[in-house]
Amino acid sequence: MAQFGIIGLGRFGARTSLELLDLGHDVIGVDFNERRVDELADYLTHAAIADVTDEKALRELSLEECEVVLVAIGEDLEASLLCVLHLKSIGIKNIWAKATSKEHHQILSRLGVKRIIHPEEEMGIRVAQSLNYPMVNEYMSLGHNWYCVEIDVADHLKDKQLADLMPEKLEHFHLLLLKRRDEVTTNPSSSVTLQGNETLVLAGSLQALKSIAPKLR
Ligand code: ATP
Repeated sequence: MAQFGIIGLGRFGARTSLELLDLGHDVIGVDFNERRVDELADYLTHAAIADVTDEKALRELSLEECEVVLVAIGEDLEASLLCVLHLKSIGIKNIWAKATSKEHHQILSRLGVKRIIHPEEEMGIRVAQSLNYPMVNEYMSLGHNWYCVEIDVADHLKDKQLADLMPEKLEHFHLLLLKRRDEVTTNPSSSVTLQGNETLVLAGSLQALKSIAPKLR
């Protein structure tokens, strides 16, 4: 269990806080909007009403023990940047922040923010990917254009062998798992006959995954 600080309890900050609390972590939530703090006060480990552009107010929140402090203020550029500067001078090392523009991103990056998040943009990419590949449940970027994807096998692929769908000579591609209800097989053999109720977990280059995707539709 870790402790996190979430500054700005709009939809993004509030959702992130609730998810972290669900995962069993402690969350210190801060906003200058009393209503937003009140709405979450019963759930948060510690809820505070404070203007985070005020360094003194920020110091009083005892955020030093937090594994990460997330600045979830997007619209007010000045507030976001001042807050990051103050967190730095308090000595918070691991700061993540939401950005709403390229310029905002650039400044946050110069200030040493470890991870910069563009929620709308990232969600837009995810939604477009889901529309393009409806059979992909989940995907994760592994860097260098490699992805890990979870795919539900379509009903009409019942009785086909894995080998029919995934040519063995394809490079930059690995079939990691085959899940059938509660049963998980690692490195499944290509001779497995599909029942149409499986989920596959694949890792590969975008190019390799794109060449396989049409066979799984
Ligand atoms: P979201 O896009 O997450 O729904 P939002 O539309 O309210 O949020 P933002 O401007 O990103 O837009 O604000 C996020 C939260 O940050 C808001 O709840 C706002 O009250 C809070 N906030 C903004 N400035 C400050 C500040 N100086 N001190 C404390 N909280 C602030």
